[in-house]
Amino acid sequence: MGKFIFYLLLALLIYWLVKGRYSAKEAAPPKEASEDMVRCAYCNIYLPKGEAIGHCDKFFCCREHYRLRVNASS
Ligand SMILES: [Zn+2]
Repeated sequence: MGKFIFYLLLALLIYWLVKGRYSAKEAAPPKEASEDMVRCAYCNIYLPKGEAIGHCDKFFCCREHYRLRVNASS
Protein backbone atom coordinates (compact mmCIF):
# COMPACT_ATOMS: atom_id res chain seq x y z
CA MET A 1 0.00 0.00 0.00
CA GLY A 2 2.87 2.38 0.83
CA LYS A 3 4.41 1.73 -2.57
CA PHE A 4 1.12 2.56 -4.31
CA ILE A 5 0.90 5.94 -2.56
CA PHE A 6 4.54 6.65 -3.45
CA TYR A 7 3.89 6.03 -7.16
CA LEU A 8 0.67 8.03 -7.00
CA LEU A 9 2.52 11.01 -5.53
CA LEU A 10 5.31 10.58 -8.11
CA ALA A 11 2.75 10.59 -10.93
CA LEU A 12 1.09 13.70 -9.49
CA LEU A 13 4.49 15.42 -9.19
CA ILE A 14 5.31 14.69 -12.85
CA TYR A 15 1.84 15.83 -13.87
CA TRP A 16 2.27 19.15 -12.05
CA LEU A 17 5.73 19.69 -13.55
CA VAL A 18 4.51 19.05 -17.12
CA LYS A 19 1.36 21.12 -16.60
CA GLY A 20 3.35 23.99 -15.09
CA ARG A 21 5.75 24.01 -18.01
CA TYR A 22 2.94 24.10 -20.58
CA SER A 23 1.04 26.90 -18.83
CA ALA A 24 4.25 28.93 -18.52
CA LYS A 25 4.75 28.59 -22.28
CA GLU A 26 1.20 29.72 -23.00
CA ALA A 27 1.52 32.70 -20.65
CA ALA A 28 4.40 34.22 -22.63
CA PRO A 29 3.02 36.56 -25.32
CA PRO A 30 5.47 36.79 -28.25
CA LYS A 31 3.01 38.70 -30.47
CA GLU A 32 3.32 42.17 -28.91
CA ALA A 33 7.09 42.37 -29.20
CA SER A 34 7.20 41.28 -32.84
CA GLU A 35 4.60 43.79 -34.06
CA ASP A 36 5.96 46.62 -36.21
CA MET A 37 5.98 50.06 -34.63
CA VAL A 38 5.38 53.15 -36.73
CA ARG A 39 5.69 56.86 -35.91
CA CYS A 40 2.90 59.37 -36.26
CA ALA A 41 3.98 61.91 -38.90
CA TYR A 42 2.23 64.69 -36.96
CA CYS A 43 3.04 64.25 -33.26
CA ASN A 44 5.94 61.75 -33.59
CA ILE A 45 4.60 59.22 -31.07
CA TYR A 46 5.18 55.53 -31.73
CA LEU A 47 2.24 53.12 -32.05
CA PRO A 48 1.61 49.60 -33.40
CA LYS A 49 1.23 49.52 -37.18
CA GLY A 50 -2.14 47.76 -36.81
CA GLU A 51 -3.57 50.77 -34.92
CA ALA A 52 -2.05 53.42 -37.19
CA ILE A 53 -3.77 55.20 -40.08
CA GLY A 54 -1.63 54.89 -43.21
CA HIS A 55 -1.39 57.52 -45.94
CA CYS A 56 1.13 57.02 -48.77
CA ASP A 57 4.32 56.11 -46.84
CA LYS A 58 3.30 58.02 -43.69
CA PHE A 59 1.41 56.89 -40.60
CA PHE A 60 -0.78 58.71 -38.12
CA CYS A 61 -1.93 57.90 -34.56
CA CYS A 62 -5.51 59.14 -35.11
CA ARG A 63 -7.80 60.52 -37.81
CA GLU A 64 -7.42 64.05 -36.42
CA HIS A 65 -3.65 64.07 -36.97
CA TYR A 66 -4.08 62.49 -40.40
CA ARG A 67 -6.51 65.28 -41.35
CA LEU A 68 -4.34 68.07 -39.90
CA ARG A 69 -1.21 66.81 -41.64
CA VAL A 70 -2.87 66.25 -45.03
CA ASN A 71 -4.55 69.70 -44.91
CA ALA A 72 -1.26 71.40 -43.90
CA SER A 73 0.77 69.82 -46.70
CA SER A 74 -1.73 70.50 -49.47
ZN1 LIG B 1 -0.39 61.87 -33.80
